[in-house]
Amino acid sequence: MKLNFIGNGSCFNTAFGNNSAYYLNKENQSLLLIDCGETVFERIMKQKLLENVKDLDILITHKHTDHIGSLSSLLFYCEYGKGIIPTVIYPDKSEMQQYLALVGNEPQAYKLINPEECEKYRIKEIKQEHSKFINAYGYILELEGKRIYYSGDTKTIQTPIIEALKKGVFDEFYQDVSRFETPAHLNIETLSNLFNKEERKKITCMHFDDEITKIKAESMGFDISKVKNNKDIER
Ligand SMILES: [Zn+2]
Ligand SMILES: [Zn+2]
Repeated sequence: MKLNFIGNGSCFNTAFGNNSAYYLNKENQSLLLIDCGETVFERIMKQKLLENVKDLDILITHKHTDHIGSLSSLLFYCEYGKGIIPTVIYPDKSEMQQYLALVGNEPQAYKLINPEECEKYRIKEIKQEHSKFINAYGYILELEGKRIYYSGDTKTIQTPIIEALKKGVFDEFYQDVSRFETPAHLNIETLSNLFNKEERKKITCMHFDDEITKIKAESMGFDISKVKNNKDIER
């Protein structure tokens, strides 16, 4: 069970779409969406992803617009277009409530919980090194009995997480990468130096700056996040 991706691009890579993943349980008609950046709502609508969904959880990694930019529209659509009350999952609840109030989402139209309060999935947050101005989180998720690491945006991978991957603790491991050395993201070369060839196969790269970064990651032996129905959603 790999997560599906709505987009796997970085902030300025609108061609790949903003990085966003999801897990759809068709049987339960439930969808877990991870992040909802500027380009995500449009793609959700084009893919008719919410068509049979009765139960929507939205896990947010941080408040940069490539991760949260169309969350407000998605919540409005759930309220007026679908008549469902989605759950927003984020560690800093009052900050999120403030943000959503500022953009006009009514508090009764969504449920807001922190990861520990989530009963449907087991979710543990990891505070990441990404921005001086806002918090950013990665998550360890348990889905269908599988343990998944999802980095969100981060400059580093914490040592216990690296060790856990090497010990085979994770079934799936999703990591954002960058083409260049920046204070906000993990450079693909640095990531490559942390892991041997066998370990790299277990890491799915995401949040690509461009095609070159993707090709580079592939040539280093990393797994690459795949955007479903890419052709269908291109203009
Ligand atoms: Zn980002
Ligand atoms: Zn970011």
